[in-house]
Amino acid sequence: MEYITNSVEETFALGEKMGQEAGRGEVITLSGDLGAGKTAFAQGFAKGLEIREDITSPTFTIMCVYETGRLPFYHFDVYRLADGSELEAIGAEEYFYSDGVCLIEWPENIEGYVPENAKKIRIEKNPACGSDYRKIIVE
Ligand code: ADP
Ligand code: MG
Repeated sequence: MEYITNSVEETFALGEKMGQEAGRGEVITLSGDLGAGKTAFAQGFAKGLEIREDITSPTFTIMCVYETGRLPFYHFDVYRLADGSELEAIGAEEYFYSDGVCLIEWPENIEGYVPENAKKIRIEKNPACGSDYRKIIVE
């Protein structure tokens, strides 16, 4: 499935819709370059899960846990990890195979550690289509 968005609000809205539809134990990976809109999508997704807190990018903490929504939400940003070996220290495997919902930014960095049944989403820019254009591909 492919979606086109032309503003951060549209990407947020798509995330929100997928958050509304998310089910227990779901794991979603979110790929795309810096500034692609992964965090914007994640913020919409959190709203769709009925989380009221502000979602900030967990770039420095690797993971944020939100438990006030419809389902527990585990938001990962593994940009700073060289590989998946550090995941053990933060107990990530427990979250990957939990009753909550995981969203993982930069899954490429932890290849081999992401559950096989994860839903893959990729956000792509295309300079020829303008700076606000994004193609969002859902596997
Ligand atoms: P990432 O987490 O992938 O690094 P962010 O969500 O933090 O990206 O930032 C995306 C940036 O791109 C924001 O500044 C946002 O305003 C801008 N932007 C412009 N158009 C879009 C769009 N269609 N979808 C998402 N973000 C967009
Ligand atoms: Mg981000």
